[in-house]
Amino acid sequence: MIQRKLPTKSPRFDFERDEMIALIRQRGIEDERLLKAMMLVDRREFVQAALLNRAYDDCALPIGHSQTISQPYTVAFMTEALEVKPGKKILEIGTGSGYQAALLSAMGARVYTIERNMDLLNGARKIFEHLKYNIVSKCGDGTIGWKEFAPYDGVIVTAGAPEAPQPLLDQLAEGGILVIPVGDKEIQSIQITRRLGEKFQTREAHGFKFVPLIGKIGWK
Ligand code: SAM
Repeated sequence: MIQRKLPTKSPRFDFERDEMIALIRQRGIEDERLLKAMMLVDRREFVQAALLNRAYDDCALPIGHSQTISQPYTVAFMTEALEVKPGKKILEIGTGSGYQAALLSAMGARVYTIERNMDLLNGARKIFEHLKYNIVSKCGDGTIGWKEFAPYDGVIVTAGAPEAPQPLLDQLAEGGILVIPVGDKEIQSIQITRRLGEKFQTREAHGFKFVPLIGKIGWK
């Protein structure tokens, strides 16, 4: 990903961004702080130059290394499920383009993010620096979490897993929420699990499609 100077005002892009937000709202997303952050964090900064024209399409787009920036509606759905509040500590697994992490940061969360692909992480880091996001990141296998900064109020996994990795559940704070796509490699359900003492309460939303979570407690 490159650092580029985007026009702050462009009637065409403003229109397309408004349309994207309207669609997400129409599909049931109600968190106004999230919708406002999605207006502010410009998805054009995080897509490849050749795809700028499609930055506000409600679909996943390639970011290189066979990976994708997720569909805006999916990002909104998962972020709403995380119940992000200013000052909350959130761990993201799968930095990718950096868009999801930037969105969480724009909502006032303290963001930690792990990416297994060094090239993608370097690209995201450049954007964080350029846009002055204060996000802590590392290259590694996110399936084992990031013990050093645990516990987290929220953990969001942006790649599809065969099951929710136990270390990510263990690293949740009391009342903390894990949002993770779980299923086979073709189709996943988003599992939303809240920690209540030693117990975990889970609900699921069906029919999502992610690239695989590869790691010790993911796909091999
Ligand atoms: N959140 C990203 C964004 O906003 O652009 C979308 C990420 S993409 C759908 C999923 C990412 O998860 C890929 O960049 C992939 O390299 C990464 N990934 C897969 N397995 C991982 C693991 N075990 N630990 C960390 N990152 C992983």
